[in-house]
Amino acid sequence: MYKESGGQILAYGITDAGLVRPNNEDALLVWPERRVFAVADGMGGQAAGELASQFFIQTVERVFRDFSPSDLEGVTEAVKRAFLEANREILDHVRENPAREGMGCTAELLAFAGMEFCLGHIGDSRTYLFRAGRLHRLTRDHSLVQEQLEAGILTEEEARRHPMRNVILRALGVKEDLALDLIRGRLQRGDLFLLCSDGLTDMISEELISECLARSFNDLEGIGLSLVEEAKRAGGRDNITVVLVKKE
Ligand code: CA
Repeated sequence: MYKESGGQILAYGITDAGLVRPNNEDALLVWPERRVFAVADGMGGQAAGELASQFFIQTVERVFRDFSPSDLEGVTEAVKRAFLEANREILDHVRENPAREGMGCTAELLAFAGMEFCLGHIGDSRTYLFRAGRLHRLTRDHSLVQEQLEAGILTEEEARRHPMRNVILRALGVKEDLALDLIRGRLQRGDLFLLCSDGLTDMISEELISECLARSFNDLEGIGLSLVEEAKRAGGRDNITVVLVKKE
């Protein structure tokens, strides 16, 4: 559990193994001083999954420690660099440790420059923006069920319960050529970002997420705890990670 504040940004992060998995392959970063926030969800079996998501978080820390960009272009470069270097690192690690073939992670990385933001996204973790009382999903899942959803084959509810919902089409550590989504935009005061792993969104609906955000809008810790609690009440089948970032 982390709680920090840096200037006009408030943030809170929590990760929980859930009720079924023996270990937690998710990782998070809450770094308000550098205005950098991340969630990663590892895959490839216990040790490998944990390692992959940690590689990502450590790479983000290194990139943003060495390089402190002040404008949106610089922040965008740093976000891209973090993804590329983490991808490289995971691929190198697998090459040296072939038993860890299949190791990788999804990742969300949110960084700010003044009143603008840049979000890097790959995989099926998600980032939402709660603005003026409404929840907007900023990211598109790189998953098989998302493609079927867009093709009109599945409904949202069917997608959330689909047995193949964990089939990810893009992730870090899969190939050299990284297809990263970058989402940029302007901030408004009161904007609340939610970065989360699929252990949250597979378990509870966006309506319930929205209710939790609205109910405890001024209490990030309260929101984080209630989201984890709701995901566990719904079964807690996967690791649950939530990072909340609010522009005051
Ligand atoms: Ca997961």
